[in-house]
Amino acid sequence: MSERIPLTPQMPRNKTGYTAIPESINATPESALWMFTKYVLSIVFGVAILFWVLTEGVAYMVPYLPPESEQWLKPIGEEYIKQETKKNHISTDADYDALLADLKTHLPTPALVDIKVYKGLGDTINAYALPGGKIVLYDGLMRQLDDLDARRFVLAHEMGHVYHRHAIQAMGKSVIYATLLMPAAIAFPQLSGSITSLLNVSSMQHSQAKELEADRYAVMLLKASNYDAHAGVKVFQLLEKGTKNVKTPEFLRTHPPDAARIAQIEALTRGK
Ligand SMILES: [Zn+2]
Repeated sequence: MSERIPLTPQMPRNKTGYTAIPESINATPESALWMFTKYVLSIVFGVAILFWVLTEGVAYMVPYLPPESEQWLKPIGEEYIKQETKKNHISTDADYDALLADLKTHLPTPALVDIKVYKGLGDTINAYALPGGKIVLYDGLMRQLDDLDARRFVLAHEMGHVYHRHAIQAMGKSVIYATLLMPAAIAFPQLSGSITSLLNVSSMQHSQAKELEADRYAVMLLKASNYDAHAGVKVFQLLEKGTKNVKTPEFLRTHPPDAARIAQIEALTRGK
């Protein structure tokens, strides 16, 4: 009988011959404080890693969610609009409707929801996209942008949040956030402050990535519509000025540094 040649190297067949080191020799004395610190650190890092994996998981899964999931969120945005309209904080505006209608005709892929735009009343320098495709552009911001393409950039940026389904990601994230944070904070009330700041840093970085993604979408949409995408730079110059007199608006707090956003627009519009 011919000898069979193994295709893969053989692993050692048994390890039972090894001499086990008795625990009494191996153990080093550890102080109770060090053991406690190790225990606490492993929990904090464990929670942070779990949070990161789950939120990245949410971002990864969003494109695979059925289109109807955007419709499920619609009532949340609608309710917000209803309340804000009642309080006279927002209204509809024919100029904003016209800006949107024009950009919509150049969308490379149709949005999953019907996008609607509203005017935020007052001096607030802000703009945001709500769940279900509702966009609010504050008059305080739009009024200060004389360049029509800069106004279009703000709207296209918010349309980018809708297209990339950032609202559903943010909601999934806050659910995970609450689920993870609550038991940790109950078990270690003295640590809840540090856990919160750890998670906040992570959620901030995530939203900065989203802002840059929405900016890229705005550049793409303005280019596709034959408008000047470089006008987006003017928005950030205005925002930079705005932070000097106004208390940091929400639009800025979660946004990446203006310099990084300007650099991205410059890079994407070079040699246009
Ligand atoms: Zn944004």
